[in-house]
Amino acid sequence: MNVIRLKIRLYGDACLRGKCEKVVQVESAERMLIEAMLETMRVEKGIGLAAPQVGVNRQLFVTNAGGGYMVFVNPKIIRRSGKAIMEEGCLSIPGVHIYVRRPEKIWVRFMDENNHIHERQYGDLMARVIQHETDHLHGKLIVDYASKHELMEFKDVLRDLEASAKNE
Ligand SMILES: [Zn+2]
Repeated sequence: MNVIRLKIRLYGDACLRGKCEKVVQVESAERMLIEAMLETMRVEKGIGLAAPQVGVNRQLFVTNAGGGYMVFVNPKIIRRSGKAIMEEGCLSIPGVHIYVRRPEKIWVRFMDENNHIHERQYGDLMARVIQHETDHLHGKLIVDYASKHELMEFKDVLRDLEASAKNE
């Protein structure tokens, strides 16, 4: 079976700011979406990809930041500790990187692709990616954390992305 590769929605696309619905259960339609998202992430060389980035407003993301791939359905960050600043990029905002301050360690409750519920602690890159992708599920993007200086620096890139999103 050929896995479908999905089109990445770019900054300016309304889908990236939309409200994401919870997934009641992972069934065959969701499994196909997950396979397609994993393939898209691989091809685009990303370390995380959230459903709204491929035009689906549902609470689901995939990542390979922990070594193998992982699927997070309905993730909820239930505890946070520490602070760290790290530069982040986003497949939906190519050419833009923003220094984002986030908790260093998180506890997250989520469902996996087999409908099992987990509660786990993450640090380092995984904590970073989980927070970035969970933001996507709430319509939040790295530019929302940008300083005035960063917004000035990337003004032209963002304007061009918005213009191309409108023309589609
Ligand atoms: Zn992103």
